[in-house]
Amino acid sequence: MKPMNPVFAEAKTTIFEQITRLAIAHDAINLGQGFPEEDGPYELREIASKAILKASNQYPPMLGIKELRSAVSEHMSRFYDLNFDPDCEVLVTSGATEALADTLLALIEPGDEVILIEPLYDCYLPLVFRAGGIPKRVRLSPPNWQLSENDLAAAFSENTKAVLLNNPMNPSAKVFTKQELELIAKLAIENDCYVICDEVYEHIVFEDKKHIPLISLKGMADRTVKIGSAGKTFSMTGWKIGYVVAEKNILSTISKAHQFVTFTSPPALQHAVAAGLSLPDKFYHSLSEDMQCKRDLLASGLQKLGFIVDVCEGSYFLNCDIEQLLPHVIEKNAARSEQSSQDLQFIMAMITQAGVAAVPLSAFYISNAPQTHIRFCFCKSEETLNAALERLRQWLTSHTQWAHAVHSQ
Ligand code: PMP
Ligand code: GLN
Repeated sequence: MKPMNPVFAEAKTTIFEQITRLAIAHDAINLGQGFPEEDGPYELREIASKAILKASNQYPPMLGIKELRSAVSEHMSRFYDLNFDPDCEVLVTSGATEALADTLLALIEPGDEVILIEPLYDCYLPLVFRAGGIPKRVRLSPPNWQLSENDLAAAFSENTKAVLLNNPMNPSAKVFTKQELELIAKLAIENDCYVICDEVYEHIVFEDKKHIPLISLKGMADRTVKIGSAGKTFSMTGWKIGYVVAEKNILSTISKAHQFVTFTSPPALQHAVAAGLSLPDKFYHSLSEDMQCKRDLLASGLQKLGFIVDVCEGSYFLNCDIEQLLPHVIEKNAARSEQSSQDLQFIMAMITQAGVAAVPLSAFYISNAPQTHIRFCFCKSEETLNAALERLRQWLTSHTQWAHAVHSQ
């Protein structure tokens, strides 16, 4: 047979799917793949089910139903004081993933360079490659994940077509500062390129952190694509309803890609998401407050067990530095001889021995990945988080040397 496209033929199954399958097989508590344990607002599910029974189930308009496009536009004005025309500057997609695919297919020509910031979300690289783009990476490093001006500036060239920014960022849980965003904006304007902003966690930011959409910065409205996801904001990741906001010429080209990728998304879910975006501010406050409580519960529990917990400013992910734990948990010789990275070996041991799953951070790097960090997802019930902590406690206690080292501190 002739070879298939190597971008997909040679791709592995995503780390999220791999870890979830392992968690199920080993009956482990799954703090790996990012999905809330509890479904989002009951009233939205009720609206969706009524719409299936009482409203049309035929193709809705290609750009999305009017109610949802208006709700996205009002949401932009309510939270960010920005005006986008619901008739030609908003597009509804089947999740942020489709929005990212449409945008890259629409903007990138073969040979264009796209700046990607590592650690990066799993679909970015294959989608850039499949669109014919050439990735140029800029790496952020724990524990501060600061964006270096020199590194970013050095990534630009006359071939740069776009920067792909994830803010708040998965997996680093970083919220970009105003200064960092201004730097990205300045370089994007100087180099005349687009910025694709994956802002699916825009409503999950903690303490005094504030989400600033890059599209709101001076000179950026005409060159930024803002992507959101109802899956995150309303804790219904299976719904796969996303939205794109961009200036009308850009939006029009992205919608031409959308019309040949999915054309449209289930109308009943669109009705429910429209209602969701109109929920009062109270809903949005409690979303981030609840997530913050979960973050704090997991962070303090992990710290007590001897994990070094990284700062978590937004999203529902918490990273830990496991360097000190590694030699206690994975056999030194095995570490050298095995093919898989040390963080993955650690996670394999955690799943099979402790019954708790997480994701190795090395999976979010293109190459030369650090192997000393793992990502836990904390959008789970208090009961589940406590159960996971108890399993980890028992597991680490069984590694006596480690337990001794922690308790004698
Ligand atoms: N971007 C990021 C950073 C994500 O974490 C996710 C997670 N699911 C997505 C995009 C995809 O969103 P959706 O499920 O709406 O396609
Ligand atoms: N965004 C989720 C995560 O980072 C996973 C989404 C998926 O499995 N495709 O864990």
